[in-house]
Order: sequence, then structure tokens, then C-alpha cells
Amino acid sequence: MSANHYDVVIIGTGAGGGTLALRLAPSGKRILLLERGGYVPREKDNWDPRTVNVEGRYLAKETWKTVRGEDLHPHTNYWVGGNTKMYGAALFRLRREDFGELRHHGGVSPAWPISYDDLEPFYTQAERLYHVHGARGEDPTDPGSSVPYPHPAVSHEPRIAQLAEDFAAVGLHPFHTPLGVMLDERNPRTSKCIRCNTCDGFPCLVGAKADAQVCAVDPALQHPNVTLLTTATVKRLETSPSGREVTGVVVERHGALETYSGDLVVVSAGAINSAGLLLRSANDRHPNGLANGSGVVGRHYMGHVNSVLMAISRCPNPTVFQKTLSVNDWYLGDEAFPHPMGHVSFVGKLDAVTLRAGAPALAPGFTLELMATHSLDFWLTSEDLPDPENRVTLDRDGNIVLAYRPNNEEAHRQLSERLKAAMNRQRRCPIHGHDCHQGLFARSLYVGQRIPLAGVAHQNGTVRFGRDPRTSALDASCKAHELDNLYVVDASFFPSSGAVNPSLTIMANALRVGDRLLERLR
Ligand SMILES: Cc1cc2nc3c(=O)[nH]c(=O)nc-3n(C[C@H](O)[C@H](O)[C@H](O)COP(=O)(O)OP(=O)(O)OC[C@H]3O[C@@H](n4cnc5c(N)ncnc54)[C@H](O)[C@@H]3O)c2cc1C
Ligand code: SF4
Repeated sequence: MSANHYDVVIIGTGAGGGTLALRLAPSGKRILLLERGGYVPREKDNWDPRTVNVEGRYLAKETWKTVRGEDLHPHTNYWVGGNTKMYGAALFRLRREDFGELRHHGGVSPAWPISYDDLEPFYTQAERLYHVHGARGEDPTDPGSSVPYPHPAVSHEPRIAQLAEDFAAVGLHPFHTPLGVMLDERNPRTSKCIRCNTCDGFPCLVGAKADAQVCAVDPALQHPNVTLLTTATVKRLETSPSGREVTGVVVERHGALETYSGDLVVVSAGAINSAGLLLRSANDRHPNGLANGSGVVGRHYMGHVNSVLMAISRCPNPTVFQKTLSVNDWYLGDEAFPHPMGHVSFVGKLDAVTLRAGAPALAPGFTLELMATHSLDFWLTSEDLPDPENRVTLDRDGNIVLAYRPNNEEAHRQLSERLKAAMNRQRRCPIHGHDCHQGLFARSLYVGQRIPLAGVAHQNGTVRFGRDPRTSALDASCKAHELDNLYVVDASFFPSSGAVNPSLTIMANALRVGDRLLERLR
């Protein structure tokens, strides 16, 4: 067997690929990880809002195209650990209902070929692996679990604690956001996490964020049978003459092409790049792209309907670590709007430097600095539905082209209106004790901003799994229907996106698929 042959080749080291590598590592099998990025450099700039948010220092230096031929600079990150290096580490399970068919205002969210109960044990394992802090039972849509969270919930700072009380007073059920940070509030002197204001969107300078590099890739590499090649960009996959097996993984490294092979090959390059790689690997047996007899590869791209809503009131918000509170009361709908609306949580506390980069509308009478010190910065997520015309294709040179027309937007509008109404019912200022919404302003002011096409942080759906090979590319174990040794374990496999953040589901599924691969490797 050639030195370039491995038992398993994994392409991409993010939430899916990194987690899978750790699952397979103790088997002793020869495992090769191919990652186009390097390690995020450890430097003070990791935590500098100007460097990170204005200059985009850690973003992928790559240009995609829109269908109109315009340049698209994707907000995505190519590093060991993938996008989890920058993520906000809000680690949610999908709701039990998300696994079934759900009727939305904008259409139907299709069922998954597996149920919540199939994934539940793996969610539990993923929560342990990624140090999730939370409190079960607070969230009315909590799908239930066999065990408590491995770590206690991250506490609210006073302004957020007040908001939680105020929300509860108007009948809502605010809960502690499940977070993957290595914070030990009982022992602050030895806690790895220092609870800083540069977490969501920033790499963690002190290695305390539970990302895929720290929690999965680094421990996997402790096993001598696991090899990682960085700056190794997979260009295409080759198959046997029958088209049933991937026989070559062609990699560009240091300007030269190298070919590797594996008994099993796992693609986990992120939903957009994985679809691109399969399409780019078309051959005589797979003329529309690898594993694409159904024509679904690249289609049904989803990324959530996301927006940031700044609620600006007269009283300041001195919170440092803001991402501790979420609200799911409208997740599945209410009496007035009996359709799923989505999920409300927070982004990291916005600062004036970051706001300036996004050029938001100015609240009257406010400077950006004043807005930043007075705002509660909500993150609203609604489910977008899988539209076959929302898709990844390639241009003549093989570059990514992304087509996306948002849908289910009424659900998002309804969600936003409900949050504003709940905010307008707040009365006391936690800091001054008076009514914050009187005096300078009769009500809170709201500055909303939808996330543009380049905001591909929650990308998923482009290589969907399912039982029917005519409508899906992967089977229920995430193996390509049409190939015997090709798997996909990044967010591509989602047939629907739910409305909570995707990473924990990607991680849990990678563990599930990992067990299947271990059976095959025995
Ligand atoms: C700012 C930000 C905040 C976020 N916050 C949250 C959050 O709070 N909670 C949450 O659940 N999710 C969050 N997300 C989303 C989360 O990071 C992604 O959903 C998750 O990382 C996707 O995992 P993946 O395995 O599908 O892909 P990725 O993690 O993107 O991994 C793909 C990997 O493949 C590599 N790769 C790509 N192409 C190739 C190639 N051709 N050859 C070799 N390697 C390749 C990439 O470099 C990357 O390492 C956030 C994302 C961002 C950007
Ligand atoms: S120290 Fe804690 S809060 Fe700060 S970036 Fe790291 S994990 Fe996030």
C-alpha cells in the first residue's frame, strides 16, 4: 500500500471533520486530516475589534460570485477548527419538532430521516466534549435529555439578569443560553475563560473557547495514527472506473498537486465548499458532479434568516459578556401567528468600532459610541426553507457561485415585532431604578440589520441526507447513495435548518456517523 494511502481521509477540520477525527482516533487506524487553512496565529490582534471586525484579518481571502456576476467576499474562516474558531459557542440541540415536517408561514420544512431520539445520545456526548454550560428545563421548547448539562449555566450580568426578570414578568420564559466556554465561575483565579467582551466572532487568545481545534483536533493528534496536513486544499476527488469508490483525493499544497487515497473518504469542508468540491469532481460516471444523480448537490442552500436588533434605551448596558440569555417562546408560533417564528438570543456586546464597520442607521440624538453603550444587541434567527433554486454552482473556472433568495421572511418580521413589544413593556432601569423608557425617549428605539448574502456563518443543506436517492445525495448514515466509501459530515447534510445555531447538531451527527465508520473499519 502506498504511503499516501490511509484508512480514512477527512477533508476539513471544523465542527464536523474535527469532531469525527477525535471519534476515530482511538481506533488506531491511519487517519489523514486535510485542512486548507493553518492554525490561527496567537496574537493580541485576536481580541482587537478593529483588526477582526473592520480589517477582517482572519476571514478567508477568497472571492465568490453572485448569480449576477458580482464579487462576493464570504464571511467564512479557513483555519484548523474551521468556523468554530470564530463562533459564539452557543451550542443548541435542535428541537424535537425540527426533526419532523413543520408547516411554516412560508412553506414546508421537511422531515429528517432520523429522529431526535436517534441523535439524543450523541448530543449528550457532544455537550460533554464541547464543555457546554446550561440549565435544563428553563427553555419551554427544550427537547429533553437523559442527563443534566455537564457544567452550570453561565451567569447573567446585572443588566441581563434584570432583562430576564422583566421578560419573565410579562409571561415569557427566558433561559440561559447553552455555551461552550471553559468558564469556572466558582474559581475565577484558575478559570481558563476570563469572560471577556471579544468572544463571538473572535478567536480565543487563551484557548478557552470550546472550538473544534482545541476540543477535537488537538486531542486527536495526540494519537500517533492521526496525521494533519495544513494549507492542504482539496481540489477534486477521483473515482474508480465504475464510479462506485473514491480512489484519489487531489490536494494542492505549497503550489504543487499531491494525491492521497483512503478506504473511506469523508468530505467536511463546510456546506458551500463541500458542494463545490463534489460538483468540481464530475466525471464520466458522475456527469453532474460526484454523488449527484439526484441533482440535489449544491441545491437547498440555507443560512437562516438572521438579523441583529439593537434595542437602545436611556439606561446604559455595561454588560461585558452579553450572550447568556435566550428566548424561545415564539419558536413554534403563538395564537396570533400559529407558525414557527424562531429564536431570540444575543450577539457579543457591540462596540462603536464594530458598529462603524457595519454603518448602521443612527438612532436620533445618538452617536455610535452612545448607541453602543446603551444597546441590548439581540440576535434573531428564523428558519429559511430549502428552495432548490437557492444553490451553489460553479463558474467556468470552477469558482463558487451562490444564488440565494430569502424566504419565510414574514416569520422573521413577526418574531422581531414580538421582541419589540416585549421590550416596550419593560419598565424599571436596573441601574438607575427609574423607568428607562420615559424622559428622553417614550420607548426603546430599535435599529435592525439583516445579515447580507456574504454572511454565510450558518450555511447548510447543500448535500442533504434522506431515504430516497431521487431526492437526497446521502443516506441516513451520511454515506453517498451512489458511492460505497464517500461520507459527508459538515452542515451540508441538513434537510432543514431549524432556527437554533447549527454547530452542536453537526458535532453530534459527526459522532453518530463516526460510530458507523468504526463498525466498517473493524
Ligand atoms: C462569527 C461566527 C459566529 C458563529 N456563532 C455560532 C454559534 O454561536 N453557535 C453555533 O452553533 N454556530 C455558530 N456559527 C456557525 C458555526 O461556526 C458553523 O455552523 C460550523 O463551524 C460549521 O461546521 P462545518 O463542519 O460544517 O464547517 P466548518 O466549521 O466551516 O469547517 C470546514 C473546514 O473545511 C476547510 N475546508 C474548506 N474547503 C476545503 C478544501 N477544499 N480542502 C481542505 N479543507 C477545506 C475549512 O478551512 C474549514 O476548516 C458561527 C459562525 C461564525 C462565522
Ligand atoms: S476568554 Fe472566554 S469569553 Fe473570552 S474569548 Fe475566550 S472563551 Fe470567549
